[in-house]
Amino acid sequence: MSDLTRREFIRRSLILSAGASLIISCEDNNITPTTIANSPGMLDTNGGNKKIIVIGAGMSGLVAGYELVRAGHDVTILEARDRIGGRVLTIRSPFSNNHFAEGGAARIKPSHNLTLGYANHFNLDLDPFYATSGDYINISNGNRDIIANNTYLNTSYGSILRKEYLKIRGGSDLLPHAFSNSSVLNNKIYLGAPVSSIQQGSNSVTVQTSNGNQFTADRILCTVPLTVLSKIQFTPSLSSEKQTAMNGGYRYAPSTRIYMQFQNRFWENESLSGWGNSDVPEEIWQPTWDLSGPTGIIMSYLRWTPAETMDALSEQERINYVLNRWENIFPGATSNLESGVSQSWAQEEWSQGAWASPTSSQDAALANHIGLAEGRIHFAGEHASDDRGWMQGALFSGLRAATEINEAN
Ligand SMILES: Cc1cc2nc3c(=O)[nH]c(=O)nc-3n(C[C@H](O)[C@H](O)[C@H](O)COP(=O)(O)OP(=O)(O)OC[C@H]3O[C@@H](n4cnc5c(N)ncnc54)[C@H](O)[C@@H]3O)c2cc1C
Repeated sequence: MSDLTRREFIRRSLILSAGASLIISCEDNNITPTTIANSPGMLDTNGGNKKIIVIGAGMSGLVAGYELVRAGHDVTILEARDRIGGRVLTIRSPFSNNHFAEGGAARIKPSHNLTLGYANHFNLDLDPFYATSGDYINISNGNRDIIANNTYLNTSYGSILRKEYLKIRGGSDLLPHAFSNSSVLNNKIYLGAPVSSIQQGSNSVTVQTSNGNQFTADRILCTVPLTVLSKIQFTPSLSSEKQTAMNGGYRYAPSTRIYMQFQNRFWENESLSGWGNSDVPEEIWQPTWDLSGPTGIIMSYLRWTPAETMDALSEQERINYVLNRWENIFPGATSNLESGVSQSWAQEEWSQGAWASPTSSQDAALANHIGLAEGRIHFAGEHASDDRGWMQGALFSGLRAATEINEAN
């Protein structure tokens, strides 16, 4: 076992056991205020009082900032966008009826103890992710097959049965907002503050934002996706492995979603749930299945080449393209349309991709370097975890890096 792997293993065990004890204690009837205040990633409070800048207010930066403040450190979080959450984005506009749909993170595996543990910590409710009523549809080679609800839910996706997936009631963005609205992070997050340079000295690090502000810290936590890391000028330069990864040498998956809100749920006339799959390939979700009607949103979830095909089109062309195709899947789609919108992660200025998905040779050459600290700069983010493409990976790596910073001299 290499040093990194051993360290990762020990930290992973610590974090996993902390998460497990939280879940067990919450099933216990004797919950005390202290156990509720505990969080899955609580740090040792003997790490001193360091001045820390966290770059990025996505899941990894938020969890790290939250736990570092609770451990007694002085934390500032700098976020380029004018919102927190990063790739956790619940789209609430232009939909009527208080309807919403997920732009990014949506489903949670039962094994994702940190995601579930923090949802629990902030008293968020969980619901089944997939529709538990109505039949599913499968389009393959021009055939339109109807799959019974029970059959679909008892087939697996990503190694577990569909019926086991959960979601956060009210929208995934409630989780990052629970962190940022907590008294712990009050007044510590600066929005619209893109970091443009990081200069490392022997005793401190200086961070500059593109709107002219300068901060000095003992340690930096950088959670910036590799696709946009080259927007930051590092002095001295980062390792050759990180430079390769941030200059296109670490593949990211493109993903685009097209959402259509319909005036009514005409698919229910056929006892359909509004969910299914097509061989584009495409996942079709009806995220409003458990919200009251009469309107309903159906969403096309595309990755790789089909996502890139959409990305080449204008917003209106994307909607028309999917709507025309769907007329054969859900007859009546065109005449019942109320509004449409799309979300392309490859075209987001501060993401430029959906999640890290390195080729096997990139994985072998670089994965172990991505999360390694370089002097006073620490690195986290889904790309620096074993659970790439999941909130769990972002949370895990944020806590791994927070532990490193807490334990550093
Ligand atoms: C389409 C899609 C579907 C997904 N589905 C799921 C799912 O069903 N379940 C699940 O658990 N996960 C899912 N994920 C993955 C999950 O959303 C991510 O793993 C997680 O949110 C990543 O968090 P992060 O903190 O690593 O990165 P991010 O959320 O990207 O956070 C990084 C932050 O850094 C900021 N930033 C970038 N550059 C700078 C700079 N120079 N200065 C300051 N700030 C900067 C960004 O604006 C961003 O807010 C999905 C993601 C996508 C895109």
